[in-house]
Amino acid sequence: MRRRILALTFDDGPNLNTTLPVLELLAEFRAAASFFVVGEHITAEIAPVLQQMRRQGCEICSHAFSHPALPQLSQTEMLSEHSRTAARIQKAAGVQPRFFRPPYLAVSDAVFETIPLPMIGGYGVRDFDDAVSADARTAGVLRLAADGRIILLHDAEGNVQTVEALRTILPALRGEGFVFVTVSQLFAEKGITPLPHAKILYSYAEQTEQYAPDL
Ligand SMILES: [Zn+2]
Repeated sequence: MRRRILALTFDDGPNLNTTLPVLELLAEFRAAASFFVVGEHITAEIAPVLQQMRRQGCEICSHAFSHPALPQLSQTEMLSEHSRTAARIQKAAGVQPRFFRPPYLAVSDAVFETIPLPMIGGYGVRDFDDAVSADARTAGVLRLAADGRIILLHDAEGNVQTVEALRTILPALRGEGFVFVTVSQLFAEKGITPLPHAKILYSYAEQTEQYAPDL
């Protein structure tokens, strides 16, 4: 049987109370994932969390510096959101982010023109909403899981229901034969080279979403 791969991704960290338990669970199930970090959350105290991501084979990507809706910013401000985050990631973990997830998945022509990284979307389960229970998050991810897909979750401060959901999601999907990979590994294994400025929000390695501002 062909191996099925899935890229779990986590937005809005890093922090100590949610990102660390997520990393522990990933380690327990030997799963890699990609973290789309908010630049302003990366302080000296948090830097070891990013180093732990690297030790576990996880990928560190950018989710902007102050989590703004980018289309409302000038291009200079957008570029600053990118470059300040990249600088903090580099300082904390010694790597450059290869991918960018726009906050709220809000994009525009100017965002695509300005941010020099491929834009990554994903399939989510509204796990930023406290009213969505851990069970509902689990059921949603199990329903969405498909070969080559990017799953969008949140390791935001205090988001304990997603940590709880992961305790079930990881063994369940592993039992179904899924292998958890980083976004980079997902594209490499599918033979896709995601490009910046492409007006594509990549959510699926083989079936990408075109950005269509009039829809
Ligand atoms: Zn976010």
